Amino acid sequence: MTSPSNDNQGVKGGPCPICKEPAAAGYAPFCSKRCADVDLHRWLTGGYAIPAAEDDSDGVSDPDGEPPQDS
Ligand SMILES: [Zn+2]
Repeated sequence: MTSPSNDNQGVKGGPCPICKEPAAAGYAPFCSKRCADVDLHRWLTGGYAIPAAEDDSDGVSDPDGEPPQDS
């Protein structure tokens, strides 16, 4: 097989960023698919959390025609 890994002693790059367990080859830099999944979810939902439940003033053109007032 053609494996690019020249050192068969764990994976370099540090431990799993999720649970700090030694990273596993194939899931680097995570230790398992589970942690990789956790990180993915964090990335999708946590890091890029959309500020929801606050659609008050979003610069939407009102059909009523309320001009932005300057105090
Ligand atoms: Zn882990």
